[in-house]
Amino acid sequence: ATPTALMVGTGRSAKLGILIKNGEVLEATHRVKTVVMDKTGTITVGKPQVTDIVVLKDWNEDKVLSIASALESSSEHPLALAIINKAKDRDIQPLKIESFEAISGKGVKARIDGKVSFIGNQLLAEDFVFSDDLQDKMKELQDEAKTVVILGFDAKIIALIGIQDAPKSSSRQAIKAMQAAGFRTVMLTGDNQRVAQAIADEIGIDEVIAEVLPADKADNIKRLETNGPVAFVGDGINDAPALSTATVGIAMGSGTDIAIESGGIVLVKNDLMDVVSSLVLARKTYNRIV
Ligand code: ADP
Ligand code: MG
Repeated sequence: ATPTALMVGTGRSAKLGILIKNGEVLEATHRVKTVVMDKTGTITVGKPQVTDIVVLKDWNEDKVLSIASALESSSEHPLALAIINKAKDRDIQPLKIESFEAISGKGVKARIDGKVSFIGNQLLAEDFVFSDDLQDKMKELQDEAKTVVILGFDAKIIALIGIQDAPKSSSRQAIKAMQAAGFRTVMLTGDNQRVAQAIADEIGIDEVIAEVLPADKADNIKRLETNGPVAFVGDGINDAPALSTATVGIAMGSGTDIAIESGGIVLVKNDLMDVVSSLVLARKTYNRIV
């Protein structure tokens, strides 16, 4: 590969909002066989909205939101923002919290009115028995591609909150284009299996790996790489190790600083179609000059 050809490739792409760190990255990109993508903020818009509040007996939506927004007030997770915004929309004040603790890939724990409280996924609610009714309701929401967070207060489950984060408008088209160009497409997410599958079905993704803890994302990339070079596309703090591990890390420009630093390619427009452009550019560059 001649440096001049690489400069042309990277220079032109930069104008389109595809920032390629160096020639080695472009070379690695032309060997990619599989494209692995994070869900939240990468495939989806990343602005989740509360759509459903399922309240258990003795509780009401306002009380539930005052506790849920309190728990989420110190969290930086996109789901937290959805809940805080819902409470704000309804002019509901968060209660006071103590001893806040964020649990990576699971949720948040704290004390409210001296009572142990939590909000998060089923991994946080392991000690609780879910009635058949509650389980059915969870599955129903999840099959509608809604992430369900469980709210616990004083040793009881008090509510389920359904949160929706729609795919970006170009995601479906981008997956199609990747498949047409011969790439295998995989979603890698910390979210629930049913939710992940519902979104994968909407956009036509080949394979889903769900309920992956942040610490295990990079190991999943290593495993997928036994079948050939992998591009990983992500945006979050959680994604940084996977972005560094993959043959090529592609970070969304809207992502966290650490994700952007870990990526070999940065997509300014946050659009999965630019993943396709990057892959095609790399192939063209190397087929021309190798
Ligand atoms: P993703 O891969 O979708 O970015 P994460 O690993 O950040 O997922 O989180 C995985 C899951 O943990 C979420 O889908 C959610 O169920 C739960 N979770 C994490 N943080 C929070 C939070 N602050 N509030 C509620 N649930 C949370
Ligand atoms: Mg993400």
